[in-house]
Amino acid sequence: MRLILLGAPGAGKGTVAKLLTAVDGSVQISTGDILRVAVKEGTELGKQAKKFMDAGDLVPDQLIMGIMKERLKEDDCLAGFLLDGFPRTIPQAEQLKVLLSDLGIKLDAAVNLDVPRDVILDRLTTRRTCVDCGAIYNVKSAPTKVEGVCDKCKGKVVQRDDETEEAISNRLDVYNEKTAPLVDFYQREGLLMDIAATSSEVVVAAIRERTGA
Ligand code: ADP
Repeated sequence: MRLILLGAPGAGKGTVAKLLTAVDGSVQISTGDILRVAVKEGTELGKQAKKFMDAGDLVPDQLIMGIMKERLKEDDCLAGFLLDGFPRTIPQAEQLKVLLSDLGIKLDAAVNLDVPRDVILDRLTTRRTCVDCGAIYNVKSAPTKVEGVCDKCKGKVVQRDDETEEAISNRLDVYNEKTAPLVDFYQREGLLMDIAATSSEVVVAAIRERTGA
C-alpha cells in the first residue's frame, strides 16, 4: 500500500497506520515520530524543530521536505508506505507530488479520517505516549498496566509537551487553516478516500477493500 493518511491530530492516523503495517509489511512513516526522536537525541534538526512543536505550530516545510526526500528513498519503502502526518501543508503536498513522480512512485489513495472535534479533544487530553518506543495509550480507554510505564518496552509513558490544552487548541486551529485544504487538493488529484472514522478497525477494513490489500 502507498497511502497518505490525512486527518486532524487525534483522528487516529498513527493507530490506523500501525494496524496497516501488519497487513502487508508497508512501513509507517510518521514525521512527528521522526521529529520527536531528533528532539530527544538533541540533533541539529531536533534543536530547530523543538520550539515549533512545543507550541503546537508546524515545523517549516523546508525541514520536513529535507527529511522526507531522504526517507522515501530508503529500501523499506519498496514494500509500501503509510504517510502519517505528512504532508501537512499545500506546499508539502505539491513538493511530494514532484518527489514521487521523480522516484516513479504512484500513490494508491489519500485517506481522510473524519472525526468530530469533541471526540478529538477528549482523545488528545487523555492520550499518553511512550518516550522510548512511541506506543500510544489512553488513560481512559487503553491505560498502561502500571501507571507511567510502557507495557511493551518498560519506557516512560507521559503526556506530550504539545498535549496541554493550550497547545492542543492551537494544533487544531493550525490543522483547520493549513492541513484541511489538503482534502480538496487530493480530491482534485482523484486520490481522496473519505472515511467517517468511528473505529480504527472500520477504517482498516475500508482501506483494505479499496486497495485490495
Ligand atoms: P499529531 O498528533 O498532531 O498528528 P504529530 O506527531 O504528527 O502530531 O506531530 C507533532 C508535531 O510535529 C506537529 O505539531 C508539528 O509541530 C510537527 N510536525 C509533524 N509533521 C509535520 C509536517 N508534515 N509538517 C510540519 N510540522 C510537522
